[in-house]
Amino acid sequence: MKSEMKTDLIKLQEVLYKKSLLEKEIFDAPRTLTTNIEILNKLKKAYVEKNNYLERKTEKIGRIRDRLTDLENQRSDAERQMGEIETQREYEILDKKIKEFAVKSQELRVKYNKERQEVEDLRADMATKEAMIRSQEQEIESEKEKLESYIEEKRNELNSLEGKEQEILPGVGNDIIYKFDRIVRKKEGVAIVPIKNGICTGCHIMLTPQFVNEVREETSISFCPYCSRILYCEDNEIEQEEAEVKFDDADLGGLSDLNPDVDF
Ligand SMILES: [Zn+2]
Repeated sequence: MKSEMKTDLIKLQEVLYKKSLLEKEIFDAPRTLTTNIEILNKLKKAYVEKNNYLERKTEKIGRIRDRLTDLENQRSDAERQMGEIETQREYEILDKKIKEFAVKSQELRVKYNKERQEVEDLRADMATKEAMIRSQEQEIESEKEKLESYIEEKRNELNSLEGKEQEILPGVGNDIIYKFDRIVRKKEGVAIVPIKNGICTGCHIMLTPQFVNEVREETSISFCPYCSRILYCEDNEIEQEEAEVKFDDADLGGLSDLNPDVDF
């Protein structure tokens, strides 16, 4: 593989990897919004159910009230009849009836008050839920706006990367780009690596000397048989030892310069 090709592929892998990250960011961006829409739908559903329950309760209260009125009327009638009775026996029967009406009314009144209290609590709870729904709707609206501008920004970045990609592409060729792009995505941006000491530095597996020689000599592109990354041999491998800083006596002697007055 020619060295220009190597340089192009290294540049290209950076561009392709950035592109893949941006695409993922764009794909993932609506996630919070989706979650918030789901929450809103749940809130609305619960609200509708509560509202149906409230309607049933209100109807029930209406029925209790009707029965109460009915009882009161019956009691008034009975009390009126009191003035017309003639015997002790009639009196006892009517008196018993009136007392029974009073007990029943009392029971119904307790029930009525209990239901009324429940309805009031329910209404207060629904008012809170309504406020939650409204604030959730506002949140979603503002999130939508933010999301739109975020995605637009990311798309612009993506476009500029595509521009860079098009600049590099002619040197690389279309036949390799598809495979290379897949390796970049699969190997998290590291799709072209050097061989060092006969080892693929992508997967750290030892390659046969024959294969290494092929990579060194070949003019075509070689892929690692284990991790599929594109391989190259570094032209001028600098020996590690040469790069190391060596200490010698001259460095130590330099310390005396700090204190020139001292006579050795
Ligand atoms: Zn490998």
